[in-house]
Amino acid sequence: MNKEVGFFNFSLNKILTKEQSILDQARIRLLYYVLWLAIIVVAALQVNIYLDHQYILAFTTGILLFSLLILFKYLTFRPRWGIISHILLVLATMVNLSNVFITLQNVNIVTAQIILLIIVFSFYMLGQTCGLFYSLVNLIPVLLFLVLEYDNDYVIGIKPKVIDESTIIIAICANFALIILMHNYFYAAFVKSIKVLRNTAEERGKLNSELEQVIEKAEKSAQAKSEFLSIMSHEIRTPLNAVIGMSNLLIMGNPRPDQKDNLDILKFSANNLLALVNDVLDFNKIEAGKIVFENISFNLPDLMQNVCGGQRLKAEEKGLEFHLKIDPVLRQKIVFGDPTRLTQIIFNLISNAIKFTHHGNIWVYVSCLEDRHNTVNVNFSVKDTGIGIAKDNLEIIFEPFTQESISTTRQYGGTGLGLAIVKRLLELQGLQIVVSSELGAGSEFSFNMEFPVSTEIVAVSEDKRPLTAGADILSNLRVLIAEDNMVNVMLMKKLFSKWGITPTIAENGERAIEMVQYGNFDIILMDLQMPVLNGFDAAVEIRKMRDPKKANIPIIALTASALFDIKERVFNSGMNDYVSKPFKPDELREKMQNLIVPIG
Ligand code: ADP
Repeated sequence: MNKEVGFFNFSLNKILTKEQSILDQARIRLLYYVLWLAIIVVAALQVNIYLDHQYILAFTTGILLFSLLILFKYLTFRPRWGIISHILLVLATMVNLSNVFITLQNVNIVTAQIILLIIVFSFYMLGQTCGLFYSLVNLIPVLLFLVLEYDNDYVIGIKPKVIDESTIIIAICANFALIILMHNYFYAAFVKSIKVLRNTAEERGKLNSELEQVIEKAEKSAQAKSEFLSIMSHEIRTPLNAVIGMSNLLIMGNPRPDQKDNLDILKFSANNLLALVNDVLDFNKIEAGKIVFENISFNLPDLMQNVCGGQRLKAEEKGLEFHLKIDPVLRQKIVFGDPTRLTQIIFNLISNAIKFTHHGNIWVYVSCLEDRHNTVNVNFSVKDTGIGIAKDNLEIIFEPFTQESISTTRQYGGTGLGLAIVKRLLELQGLQIVVSSELGAGSEFSFNMEFPVSTEIVAVSEDKRPLTAGADILSNLRVLIAEDNMVNVMLMKKLFSKWGITPTIAENGERAIEMVQYGNFDIILMDLQMPVLNGFDAAVEIRKMRDPKKANIPIIALTASALFDIKERVFNSGMNDYVSKPFKPDELREKMQNLIVPIG
């Protein structure tokens, strides 16, 4: 921004500002001194010419002097160097051409100097295009004048003036002074500009390397945080596994009613702690950009039934009515997508709906918005008649570790991570969650998701066999458990004894391979993180065995670590299935039943 200066300002410093570039400052400075010098010189010339009784010339120099004074005032009032330079150049061109063609009708050293001045001035002040323009406008007519061999016919009918020597000397000196002045200022400005550029480049280089160091540090600390979280979570999950497993066992052992109440609380709290650890772990993984979405085929109605099964019980225990409505169009379809992540999203939304509703209904709608040839666009909506959310909070509830208010934490618990995970999981797939809610009336969370459709037709689903019947199949099964944690071993032994099984234990992967080599087993339960040889490598070795019976023994991985990405590694190393520790006894039993070929 230009400083505002008063009309009576004559100082150069007041018209120079920090915002002007070094070159522009040089231009203004140059104009200032050029005008000064020109005014003095033209005034001196005029006096000289006047004393020489050249009144017409004195009149024209008088006009020139007046114009220079006005330009000087304009410059010191508003430093518009571009306009002023143009005006000066037009004046100089007029002086030059009128000298050559009218006044002197001759080309002398002063003409050459003036042309040189115009060339230098126009290039420095106005750049290449204007420089060329003014140079040619002045040069071509003068050259023509010389080439046309002036033959003593006056160009116009006026006799040329004879200028006395002193005037010519003043003009020559002044012109040289101007040429030196111009080069002096511009040379200084160019050198300064180059220095500034060099310094800026050096500073930028320094900044860049500092920035790189900071980024590297940040990346390292993010990695360290993420590693710390996964190690911690593993360390927490292992003893939690024991706590939940033990409470399961104790509950199965027909405790007294008062003991059962305590055990239920113990199990509930341990499960809550586990959910919290899982949430932190999962959010950490999403933030670290480590989420890879699967694209496998599944049946949407089946998935929804599975997700809603447990949730319906929870809702009904709380006295709520639970409704699941699935569009019949979707019944016959097999779609492609990531069932695990979809389950996680729906599960979180329904859990919240149940948590924040004291009476009334929970509705889960799955509606087909569009059924095209090879894709379906599905709308998922979870609606409740719960406490609702204030309008102002509808956005912040999706922030990590944020709940509606402090009283929410006190009354309902939770970490405030559920919706942050839901939102990010959807966003990573290019989708958006929509929420509408009214305080005291209820809330609705919904989103649309598009699925490619398989050409497969869904077979009419068979009724699943009741699990209890499986106990007989399992009894006397030869089970090898590869597990290094003694508490887990004890827990599993107790659990298996209830199913009539006495498992064999291998304390690490290497022992497990030896035992499979020399013994006979129907199924292996393989912990993944073990000393000496881990579960993945042990499974790979077993699958390489010569005896096809041994090489094909069903293996179920027992995993306590990060929830979802482990799945691919489990299958890649040849294992058949996996259960996440702390596993539910029913889940493990069902997976074992599915894998073993009935004996006999
Ligand atoms: P958490 O459930 O652990 O508190 P969430 O991220 O899942 O964390 O939810 C954040 C907040 O959003 C909740 O604490 C609650 O205040 C509000 N909220 C989420 N779902 C509902 C709902 N269905 N009804 C009312 N409030 C809700």
